[in-house]
Amino acid sequence: MQLIKSQNVHSIFCNNGNVVCYNTILNLPIVLDEASYNYFSDCDNINLGINQYSEDELVLFDALKDSYLLIPSNKSENEICEQLNIAYLNKVSRGETVEFFDLRVSEKCNFGCKHCISSNAQSDELMTVNTAIDAIDFVVDFLRERKSNFSKIDVHYGNAEPLMNFSLVKKIQQYLREQYPFLSRVTSINTNLSLLNEEMAGFFVDEDIAVYASLDGRKEANDLIRIFKNGNGTYDVIRKKMALLKKAGKALEGISVTITEANFPFFDLTFIDWCLENGFRSLAMDFDLVNSLGITLDERIDFLSSMWQKCNENNIEFFGTWITPFLNVSNRSIVDKHYAFCKGVHGKSVSIAPDGLMYICGSSSTSLGHYRDIEVAFSVDGKMYDLVSSRLIGRNEMCKGCIIEGACAGQCYVTGEYSHDNRRGLCDYYRAITEKLLSIQGASESVS
Ligand code: SF4
Ligand code: SF4
Repeated sequence: MQLIKSQNVHSIFCNNGNVVCYNTILNLPIVLDEASYNYFSDCDNINLGINQYSEDELVLFDALKDSYLLIPSNKSENEICEQLNIAYLNKVSRGETVEFFDLRVSEKCNFGCKHCISSNAQSDELMTVNTAIDAIDFVVDFLRERKSNFSKIDVHYGNAEPLMNFSLVKKIQQYLREQYPFLSRVTSINTNLSLLNEEMAGFFVDEDIAVYASLDGRKEANDLIRIFKNGNGTYDVIRKKMALLKKAGKALEGISVTITEANFPFFDLTFIDWCLENGFRSLAMDFDLVNSLGITLDERIDFLSSMWQKCNENNIEFFGTWITPFLNVSNRSIVDKHYAFCKGVHGKSVSIAPDGLMYICGSSSTSLGHYRDIEVAFSVDGKMYDLVSSRLIGRNEMCKGCIIEGACAGQCYVTGEYSHDNRRGLCDYYRAITEKLLSIQGASESVS
């Protein structure tokens, strides 16, 4: 077999002399020592059938092949992706890819946070029982016809403050149980917690609903940005409701934190100690993805990478939108399993608003039509089909040649809805944090 060096290799030089190399489209990095890197740099065509190679060379070729740094000479990365994309789009066109169902039971919110990523996607309406039941029946029928093994439904309640429409959440849960007993349910809710009472807390325990909540740091940090409509801080009420949830038997294991330029000065590595003291073992953290930030790129990268290292040392899960390209480049290749930046742009989720319009996720404000036209949206040239198609690896013109093309694949769709300029700044951010984490990881690995 003739192997050639990929034209899409990116190398990151770590501070201990190791070099992280990966294929910018097919991912899966390898860490090389200096000698192996130099040898690889000088490799041209490798013809395993004709040339004689030493045992060490063959071992290195195998590793380079597994990382797609050496690829068969008869196929380019783009051809490989396109073949897999066409097969995946066939499934999309048949509506087989849908796994997640988001119901925007309330597009109203009693908070007034300026950094809310869903703010453009809020109509200030509550969903009615009729809409919820009809949408569930319609989507379940759609999926039953298309998926022979359809036995599980993943339901999420959002998108602004779902507890403002708690009675509907109760009715939906009862309806699903009675009407679709053959469907196992995985259910979750994102809430600001402020309206939580004992009945609701007990209900979440009884129904086994996963509860996700946000707290934007300690009191002085949170109360600058996570505020009621009248501008008052929300920290005290959120903590009180977290305690109520814990008393009911559903202690939150993690929090989501947004950082803006207002609360950034209140964060440093001691925040991790505070999380440990408060029993938060999972920390989702993002810089404001919507508004421009007066925090330099270097500051953001230094902050996230040092927090990431400290979380790793303390066994705290630490993640955010920023880590997606790093996780993808490290663990995923389209050759092994088809994927995209997120389940939204991969055609795996459907979010339904109170007016019946459909979106790729709870934060998006780009309507893909009414849920009753779901078949049209997923069929070839339908709005969902086109969106998914344009976001597949290798298809996005803007991303061609980017050092994380196969790992980021166009980034979060919702941030693109806000502003094109912001999106370009986010590209630099995603590239920089991915390189930084890879260089830290590469330096920590011993290479034989
Ligand atoms: S969205 Fe930006 S960072 Fe992501 S792959 Fe495209 S060009 Fe690269
Ligand atoms: S587009 Fe994807 S990453 Fe962005 S908010 Fe929606 S699901 Fe999340």
